[in-house]
Amino acid sequence: MIFLFLKMHKKIRLLIGISILGLLALSVIQGYLINNTYKLEKTAFISETKKSISRLDDLSPKLDGINETLRDNFLNLIADYYVKKITKKQVLEKLNAYSDSINRFYITSYEKELKEKEIGYDLKFQKIVNTIIVLDSTGLKNDTIFSSIKTPSFQLLGHKFSREEGHEVSRSLWLTDHDFNREVDGKTTSIKFNLQLETEDRMNIDGWEKIVLGRMASLLLISIGIFLLVFGLLFYSIKSLITQKKIADIKTDFVNNITHELKTPLSTLTLATKMLQNDEMIVVSPRSKGIVSTIERQNIRLQKLIDQVLNNSLGYQEIQLHKEIVLTREYLNLIIDDFELSVESKKIKINKNIKIKEQICIDKFYFTTAILNVLENAVKYGKERVEINVSATFDGAFVLSISDNGIGIPKNEVPFLFDKFYRLGNKEVHNVKGLGLGLYYTNQIIKAHQGKIEVKSEENSGATFTITIPSNN
Ligand code: ADP
Repeated sequence: MIFLFLKMHKKIRLLIGISILGLLALSVIQGYLINNTYKLEKTAFISETKKSISRLDDLSPKLDGINETLRDNFLNLIADYYVKKITKKQVLEKLNAYSDSINRFYITSYEKELKEKEIGYDLKFQKIVNTIIVLDSTGLKNDTIFSSIKTPSFQLLGHKFSREEGHEVSRSLWLTDHDFNREVDGKTTSIKFNLQLETEDRMNIDGWEKIVLGRMASLLLISIGIFLLVFGLLFYSIKSLITQKKIADIKTDFVNNITHELKTPLSTLTLATKMLQNDEMIVVSPRSKGIVSTIERQNIRLQKLIDQVLNNSLGYQEIQLHKEIVLTREYLNLIIDDFELSVESKKIKINKNIKIKEQICIDKFYFTTAILNVLENAVKYGKERVEINVSATFDGAFVLSISDNGIGIPKNEVPFLFDKFYRLGNKEVHNVKGLGLGLYYTNQIIKAHQGKIEVKSEENSGATFTITIPSNN
């Protein structure tokens, strides 16, 4: 298949290449759009979840109560630290121990609240501390007890999971003054301090990727389906194109081979007939003379047919032109007059309108074949009285127009007229012998001259063939 692909026409290879590139580009764009949709769906899903669980602590009396006692405990620890009864490290250790003791209860209460919200998927949550700073009234000597900048965040309540595994639900900054009585050196003194506490609520959704992908399922399925369909169609088209090309090559090879093979026995036959025609040979019966001439006639016909197939199958790239400058008017008049004289089968009248003086550069042999093909068709597909109009003009390009009064060509068949082996399917045409190669070959010859041939015709109203050859061909 790859070998065949390499052997294919440049244009088809280019077409296939462009289609594959187009499909790849489409896939990249599709992938980019799906990725963007995934990101949007993810953001929407996370913010939706956030919305449904935010302020859950504040709205639930039970959770609020737990937070309250934790806060009181924490403030007492800070007061002890303030009067230097305990160190920073001890504040954190004691806070940790206390939160551990109430965490199980907190988690059960939180899960109960979540259940009531009917979220529908597993969710973990945690409350962490980012900073604890005892503020000085001047604001200059702030005492940082804990900061997540240097160390990982301090987990206060909830499930354990790392920062990367979760998403932020909310942050709260608590800035307040506190008054406490503490015993310092045996004396009860009132102490006052400002505290800054920054906490963060985080959540972890188990398998959120799957949930988001599940929400995009229909879009993904349709995209994959369309991709597979387009890919399948392209694959099928390329495959059938290659198969068609293979069949066409086999056909052409077959036609070329068979005609070459037929040529040898035919030449022998020609020779043998010639020998038989010799009067001395006709001894058997006088009737044999008639039979021999029948053989000769059929032989000539077969030779002609084969030559037609062999020559007329050439493509315009294979036609080797030997161009020469010709006097257009004289050249055309000669061909047309010769042709008119050669027609014996029908009554024919050719009206000429060739007044041009310009010269053209053509291969006389090929160009004459092209013009004769059109003229012969005018007779073959003409009525009993054939009338042909030939006109030639020169207006930047050489334009030759040949119109007849024949059976014409239905409009829908006109585009296929120059195809190899194409013949019209109607009865009149089937009565006329032909291979459907004449116009194909004419077109190839005109193409080799960098020109073009066009037809205008309608059923029963004749046909006009126009050949245009550029002056600089
Ligand atoms: P062939 O004459 O050997 O069949 P051509 O390639 O010369 O092959 O012509 C192809 C077909 O185009 C013909 O079979 C005929 O149906 C149609 N055709 C060609 N010339 C004419 C014409 N002048 N008027 C009507 N039909 C035509």
